[in-house]
Amino acid sequence: MNFVLHGAPVSAGITIGYAHLVSSARLEVAQYEIAQTSIDAEVGRFDAALERVRGELREVTGNIPADAPAEFGAFVDLHRMILDDSTLSEVPRELIRAERCNAEWALVRQMEGLVAQFDSIEDPYLRERKADVQQVVERVLKALLGHPGPIPQSRDEQKLIVVAHDLSPADMILFKQHQFGGFVTDVGGVTSHTAILARSLGIPAIVGLHLARHMIRENDLLIVDGLQGVLIVAPDPAVLGEYQLRQSQLELERQKLRRLRSTPAITLDGAQIELLANIELPQDVEGVREAGAQGIGLFRTEFLFMNRRNLPSEDEQFEAYRTVVAAMRGLPVTIRTLDIGADKSLDGRAIEPMPNPALGLRAIRYCLAEPQIFLTQLRAILRASQFGRVRLLIPMLAHAHEIEQALALLRQAKASLADAHVAYDRGIEVGGMIEVPAAALALPMFTRRLNFLSLGTNDLIQYTLAIDRTDDAVAHLYDPLHPAVLHLVAHTIQSANRAGIAVAVCGEMAGDLALTRLLLGFGLRSFSMDPAQLLAVKERILRSSIAEMKPLAARVLRSTDGAKTREMLAKINA
Ligand code: PEP
Ligand code: MG
Repeated sequence: MNFVLHGAPVSAGITIGYAHLVSSARLEVAQYEIAQTSIDAEVGRFDAALERVRGELREVTGNIPADAPAEFGAFVDLHRMILDDSTLSEVPRELIRAERCNAEWALVRQMEGLVAQFDSIEDPYLRERKADVQQVVERVLKALLGHPGPIPQSRDEQKLIVVAHDLSPADMILFKQHQFGGFVTDVGGVTSHTAILARSLGIPAIVGLHLARHMIRENDLLIVDGLQGVLIVAPDPAVLGEYQLRQSQLELERQKLRRLRSTPAITLDGAQIELLANIELPQDVEGVREAGAQGIGLFRTEFLFMNRRNLPSEDEQFEAYRTVVAAMRGLPVTIRTLDIGADKSLDGRAIEPMPNPALGLRAIRYCLAEPQIFLTQLRAILRASQFGRVRLLIPMLAHAHEIEQALALLRQAKASLADAHVAYDRGIEVGGMIEVPAAALALPMFTRRLNFLSLGTNDLIQYTLAIDRTDDAVAHLYDPLHPAVLHLVAHTIQSANRAGIAVAVCGEMAGDLALTRLLLGFGLRSFSMDPAQLLAVKERILRSSIAEMKPLAARVLRSTDGAKTREMLAKINA
């Protein structure tokens, strides 16, 4: 049966390939009936998944570092016991036989029954063991559903399209090791970190498709139109032919853009624009160089801390930062300190569940609450600074005392290196992210204390409009063109320019072609974005005149009518 689903486009381009369903324990897994003749095979599949997880846990035990806390071993033992308990290892087998249902469904049903019992336990320690049961079940589901699972051997990865209910940023980092053709998910907003990572993979992706994971079967032929947010399942030959043609046209356009790699980004009226790249992992540097970026405007270091049970040591972080700094050969590398919390969680350190994680102990707040983690990172960044041009960027600042405390800890990190005669760049610049409305409205607090600013429009929009950027239920309200957002963005750029302090935009607005001219008109001269978007933005800059844009941008800023704003923007981009 062929059908079409609509979602939010995340990453431009068209891809045609075969569905590969992946899962995580948080989602409702699909239920399907097993033929009588296949029941033994399904039970065998379940047993094989349990065996695989037993092997994984044995491996984890074997790799526990000598200096790991004793609880860590105990925690792995607990997971092994949970796995082998008959409630998880036997009852689902019986369910498969009795109800002729798939192994995932049997396992999740059994887990839900167990979890409900935990909820009614008074003892908080025992109640918390619910999370252990869920984690063990998640491992088995991953083994069953191929997350990060075995990729079907006989097929070309580039032709596989990952179909998931939801993917965490940590999941996406694991997927970076593969070369899938595309990603589609049921939930998520276009500026969630999962979406940002999908974009950084440079492959078409769509989020917010609602029922894709439920409706699509493994191996279904799919067309992912990442430009329009359209997913076509089992297309007929005419539609397939049409999309193949559009796909080759897009490839031609991409090739043409590659010719601009070393062309300076200068507007028609001679203004020089800085184009920087955002990265998540050291391996992303290759894409940065291919795009001809003038430096790295945002290195989201928290991704080095994910998918692991321990924190990266100072040496390990230093190596990662040094690799990037050396590969950029003297071009600026803006390393942002740990922005953990909200949708980015650490596996290895339990952060207490927060009632509202986006408003909780996130980013600099977390680092100031955990000064040892922060100091370790600061030392690693400082040590890397002698291998090129490093700039330090602090996320989510809102208070003057947060800036002061961060700077005090930086002085402490410098002093400890100086005492040990370790070299670092004494002139290292320190910048702050403007991503909380309070920061944009109290800008002198920042311009007085810091060397540069970087506008994190993803969070600025989230916090200005009170919209969770990861929640597709409110994704339609996430609006970069809302007058309040535009005022904060324009005000920050103009105030920083007046104060003579460098300002860039590193949120997704910087890579949105529809906004390039508007931002130029607001006075922005430095953009930092995913390398995949950089050449298209450069092409737009080459065809833009700031003198023309300035009055038009001022008019957009005066508009209080959404429809008119969009009309004016269309004119600006004509
Ligand atoms: C932002 O908030 O715009 C930003 C660049 O930071 P992140 O997307 O990592 O929160
Ligand atoms: Mg942010």
